[in-house]
Amino acid sequence: MPSHILHQLVDVLMFGRTYPRVHAAMDAAQTTLQSNHRMYFHDDLNLEKTIVIENSIEAGWCFYYHVELDGISDEVGQQDSVATLIDRLLTGRVPFYLSSDGLLTRIAAVGFRQVNGWPPGIVPPALSYEFK
Ligand SMILES: [Zn+2]
Repeated sequence: MPSHILHQLVDVLMFGRTYPRVHAAMDAAQTTLQSNHRMYFHDDLNLEKTIVIENSIEAGWCFYYHVELDGISDEVGQQDSVATLIDRLLTGRVPFYLSSDGLLTRIAAVGFRQVNGWPPGIVPPALSYEFK
């Protein structure tokens, strides 16, 4: 199953913030049940409860993407899970929740032509970061 760091990475990509309480509540049974933890708190009833308790539709989407990432991680492994989720978002296989603060939404709003180094084939500029 994906670590909480990956769930929170998806939060930042989708919402521009994290929902640690949502993930902690969903995975409360993880230490004792490992992958079987999804038998609990990963269903539609708990999704609805999350929206009510957090008073946030976005928290419900956080719940939704948590379940998607869990399933994708089983399918392709933890390492490729976030990239696979993004690919499925961009190809419409997973519904895309549009949050104005989400990094993916902000990238789309900027447009690729304005991103440094686009189009491909241009040599990247000198690095401003020094490796130590
Ligand atoms: Zn989980």
